[in-house]
Amino acid sequence: MVCLGEEEAKPHFVLVPLVAQGHMIPMVDMARLLAEHGARVSLITTPVNAARIQPIIDRVSRSNLPIRFVELRFPCKEIGIPDGCENVDLLTDQETFKPFFDAMSSFQSPLEDYILAQDPNPTCIISDGCNPWTMEVARKLGIPRFVFHGPSCFYVLCDYNIMRHNLYKLIVDQLEPFLVPDLPVRVEVNKLQAPGFFNQSGWEKLCDDCIEAEKTADAILINTFDDLEHPFIEQYAKSLGKKVWPIGPLCLYNKDVDSKATRGNIAAIDQHRVITWLDTKEANSVIYVSFGSLARHQPLQIIEIGSGLEASKKPFIWVIKEAEMVPEVEKWIKEEFEEKTKERGLIVKGWSPQLAILSHAAVGGLVTHCGWNSMLESISNGVPLVTWPHFADQFLNEKLVVDVLRVGVSLGVKSPCYFTGVDSSTAEVVKSEDIEEAVSRLMDGGEEGRERRERAKEFGEKAKKAMEEGGSSYVNMNEMIQFVMEQSGKQGCLLNGSVDFLA
Ligand code: UDP
Repeated sequence: MVCLGEEEAKPHFVLVPLVAQGHMIPMVDMARLLAEHGARVSLITTPVNAARIQPIIDRVSRSNLPIRFVELRFPCKEIGIPDGCENVDLLTDQETFKPFFDAMSSFQSPLEDYILAQDPNPTCIISDGCNPWTMEVARKLGIPRFVFHGPSCFYVLCDYNIMRHNLYKLIVDQLEPFLVPDLPVRVEVNKLQAPGFFNQSGWEKLCDDCIEAEKTADAILINTFDDLEHPFIEQYAKSLGKKVWPIGPLCLYNKDVDSKATRGNIAAIDQHRVITWLDTKEANSVIYVSFGSLARHQPLQIIEIGSGLEASKKPFIWVIKEAEMVPEVEKWIKEEFEEKTKERGLIVKGWSPQLAILSHAAVGGLVTHCGWNSMLESISNGVPLVTWPHFADQFLNEKLVVDVLRVGVSLGVKSPCYFTGVDSSTAEVVKSEDIEEAVSRLMDGGEEGRERRERAKEFGEKAKKAMEEGGSSYVNMNEMIQFVMEQSGKQGCLLNGSVDFLA
């Protein structure tokens, strides 16, 4: 048997993320992991999104990893949004969301042209679960297609079971509590907390297409690991009747500070300044407060968060988005808040080098909006969490982390707050006392707090093991590559942990 080493013999994956930070960031990590496992990768992106990750593109090119970043034009003009609005986090008007999501399918024809121009043919498309239009591309060109789900497997399974039992349609009252059917654990929610993706009026076609895309996919990839979500992964695979590979935590691809600090966008603060600041703090003493890339708060809420942090007396790093930095907030920070907390607080105004912060030994807690990437980044680094879900999958992610994994303290928020900040004016305001109490419980918390931290550290260790050579996610990635090669009619053999292929 002769194992070929030629570039052409490598499997070629075409990655098609949704252009939203929580979906692109893990796919960019996945691209580099696949390349290190012996594959070639094309990652579909747009000019603005590519510019945001230029440091990664430069690093990939210096290291000769076989990854091509393919920039397709996003039709901003055609859908009436400002030029350059190429990522969900740049949208400011709720009305533009639907046209934005629909516009993703305009990639279909240029993607087909790109794939047809490759010689040999790409081996597999890995498409975000929110990009069902890739179904048609894969079918037309006869290429296997995997769906990548960004949220926790727990969420994906809950959503699947709720949908399968038709509860999104049967339950009319948004506040009526119901049990998620067929789960190995008892989970009670209402429709406000578990709305599903795209389950609103006007979005029916996209919603149906996503279900069909999952049903017809050749396999499913999830950013999680077996030791974290085993019962849910097993049950989801059984229900779908197809392979479900947990291949995460993908964030652990990033080993050095620079690589951890340059994900998703150019940071608003120099990572070395943050690290130097953290170096002066005791282990597990700092609380990091961040609400992901989308959730935005009104000034009143921002002031409550700041007051809670001030009252907690803990050292903190707090991320306030550019869009939230309105004159009222600037003034309050400058004239009141900064003076009182400057000895122990750092505010990041804009994009934060989050993973570099969460992996520093001084960080002992995260206040989070419960986006799955942030939660996984925290857990992989052994950091327990205060949970404050805002929308989409986040209330169910909270249940997993607080009730099942028991590494989180819930702030007790019961209803959603949407992300453009427009609807958040009507959302319940979380009070500073509640924030202070939850932060204190997490960071001090006596025996209960010690045990919670211990569990988080254990998951952190298991996460690292999963990604090491021979670990469960590492093995899954190789198995997945092998599966693809078999599907595409070739045979593979594993060599030195990476995959080389037989003629
Ligand atoms: N993130 C970051 N800096 C920020 C805000 C977010 O690096 O200032 C990253 C974060 O590390 C995570 C992603 O953006 O990888 C956010 O994804 P998540 O699923 O947590 O939330 P979403 O933004 O999708 O609501």
